[in-house]
Amino acid sequence: MPITRTVPMEQAALALDVDSDGVAWLVFDRPESRVNLLTSGVMARLDLLLADVEEGIRAGRIRAVVVRSGKPGTFIAGADVEEIAGVTDATEAEALAREGQRIFRRLDLLPAPTIAAIDGVCLGGGTELALACDVRLASDAPETRIGLPEVRLGIIPGFGGTVRLPRLIGLRAALDLILTGRTLDGRRAARIGLVDECVPAPVLVERARRLALTLAERKGAAGRRRRRAGLAGRLLDETPPGRRLVLSQARKRVLRETRGHYPAPLAALDVLADVSSSTPLDEALAREARAVGPLIASAVCKNLIHVFRLTEAAKKAGPRAEARPVERVAVLGAGTMGGGIAQLLADRGLAVRLKDIRAEAISLGLRHARELFDRAVQRKRTERRHAEQALRRISPTLDYSGFGTADVVIEAVVEKMDVKKQVLREAEERVPPHAVLTSNTSSLSITEMQHALARPENFCGMHFFNPVHRMPLVEVVRGAASSDEALATIVALARRLGKTPLVVNDGPGFLVNRILAPYLNEAGWLLGEGARIEDIDRALLDFGMPMGPLRLLDEVGLDVARHAAAVMYEAFGERMRPAPPLTAMAQTGRLGRKGGLGYYRYENDREKGPDPAVYTLLGDAVPARRREIPAAVIQERAVLAMINEAARALEDRIVETAADVDLALIMGIGFPPFRGGLLRYADTLGIPTVLQRLKIHERELGPRFHPAPWLRERAAAGKGFYA
Ligand code: NAD
Repeated sequence: MPITRTVPMEQAALALDVDSDGVAWLVFDRPESRVNLLTSGVMARLDLLLADVEEGIRAGRIRAVVVRSGKPGTFIAGADVEEIAGVTDATEAEALAREGQRIFRRLDLLPAPTIAAIDGVCLGGGTELALACDVRLASDAPETRIGLPEVRLGIIPGFGGTVRLPRLIGLRAALDLILTGRTLDGRRAARIGLVDECVPAPVLVERARRLALTLAERKGAAGRRRRRAGLAGRLLDETPPGRRLVLSQARKRVLRETRGHYPAPLAALDVLADVSSSTPLDEALAREARAVGPLIASAVCKNLIHVFRLTEAAKKAGPRAEARPVERVAVLGAGTMGGGIAQLLADRGLAVRLKDIRAEAISLGLRHARELFDRAVQRKRTERRHAEQALRRISPTLDYSGFGTADVVIEAVVEKMDVKKQVLREAEERVPPHAVLTSNTSSLSITEMQHALARPENFCGMHFFNPVHRMPLVEVVRGAASSDEALATIVALARRLGKTPLVVNDGPGFLVNRILAPYLNEAGWLLGEGARIEDIDRALLDFGMPMGPLRLLDEVGLDVARHAAAVMYEAFGERMRPAPPLTAMAQTGRLGRKGGLGYYRYENDREKGPDPAVYTLLGDAVPARRREIPAAVIQERAVLAMINEAARALEDRIVETAADVDLALIMGIGFPPFRGGLLRYADTLGIPTVLQRLKIHERELGPRFHPAPWLRERAAAGKGFYA
């Protein structure tokens, strides 16, 4: 009778095979998974197999070792994030890092040449494993991305990466990768010496085999040249004063960019200040592990892991319906948004018909698209040839010619219901019956627009944020009649554009602008109590927002903001009544950044600080004298206003879950990821505290702070936003 035995996952995830030439192949291939992960089980398995390899080398059976993946297009995606999430004790975390370091050190010390053959994603622990090999080869495939993204999870590379990378490529190049978490393709990795060679993907394994044999003949990996920096570079990377200068500049940059909210990059700098390439490796590794322990246990790490899970889940979410194929898109309106949307579509290979009613608007829209491409070329984000081809995919028109073949229409004309209804009706008459029509409106009802259409099921909102090329969120708005198929088509299109789509139900301001509105308005109320522009904005920057609310109003445009505020007031009444200083500001005719003047002054498109003349301009809406309002009060009022409105949006089922809200605000307005999201932050405060603080503000400041019934229910049930 056959004995059936389940092979443990870890055992199957990594195999050792010695070929007839004496090359040992360590092959990662996690069953039933798209990616290879370095779980603790897989690490233990690696440890075991390394003992076999040592034995094979001693016995003369093994002459060289190649590490590779059995999955084409993916090498090793790193450690298992879920395991990191589960570790809450710094000592335990440090011990885990030590164990990983020990196993990679074992690989590093093998008395035979070791080669990593990298094809596909090679991240975090995967890169650290490769760094412990003598030689690294990478494929030139577009999927190959090599890097140490640990800082994005609030930690630093703890399996030797923080120590080994600077030794290999120099301090400055290593900082560039470790502090930003950015990844490189095979060619760029070879250019900076992170890998020894970049080879065409189909020949990678064969190249590794031949190199293994050559190095085995030579008895070791010695003789491979390390890239040397020039004299100035060596002074900076390798001398104590040079290193001090590099590290102190990097620290300043990190503090400026993060306002000290992210401990990981600072911890990496501390480690690199304590160890240099002359520090004995084992001592340096111990220092690295001591730094990583408390980071893994920190709240920031857990919050960033929460955000990581939100974004992973968002990649799969959406209506369960088949998306229709999309190759041609018509854009109505070549203004700020239409021009940006056309550029993005063309960049991603779609054919674009761009219609406006004014020739001059079309030229401006095309110029805007060209400028975006030029900038991308300058920053080496794209190649000139690609940009030229993409631009040629945008064909302008003043009439509806070309609409007959459109698969999708994106309407981005002026924010007026009757105009939108009319252009949508006109477009619908010309497009094929399968085409999905969308509106980029930020405040008008999608359901109302559907009334104008013959095929309302083929219509939904596609709400991009400004600037289109930079903001990752797209709200896909479900009107009363929108079909799942239409929504799925637009969700798929948004993903193809590199955006994170979130399906939301129709309602004033949809999700993001609805929650943003009371936040911006609260800044207005604070101004009215005598707070200074810079104090309000600084308090919220210190909280972690990417921009203060008044600076953000300037960015949005004071005319646009006024219109949006009026829509919200009309829809929600008293709690959204525009704060008098904001209304007064709108009446001054200032437009914000685009007009050179708002709450701040702008010269040549650059901000030149807050404008003190604003207080005089606002007249009676602000007191004659400024007064100090503590930063903590400003932060609490502005953030509670958002939490309260988010509770109401959940109540109105604009979205279903707290996770949707958190994802949308991180992607849509840059709510600080280190806090894990607005509602996760509310949960850390505790719903009873949120309620109690709202009640106090309601008593002092008025009904706009009246707690949402949803909050009372959750508090009574002893639940948070996340069940
Ligand atoms: P805009 O004023 O820059 O551009 C509107 C363009 O539409 C103009 O070029 C105008 O000539 C054109 N237009 C007017 N009537 C037309 C018609 N009948 N047919 C074709 N074109 C016509 O406006 P914008 O800022 O790009 O906003 C467009 C839409 O996007 C609005 O619904 C707005 O609410 C929404 N939106 C704007 C922002 C933002 O921050 N600007 C953000 C998200 C959404």
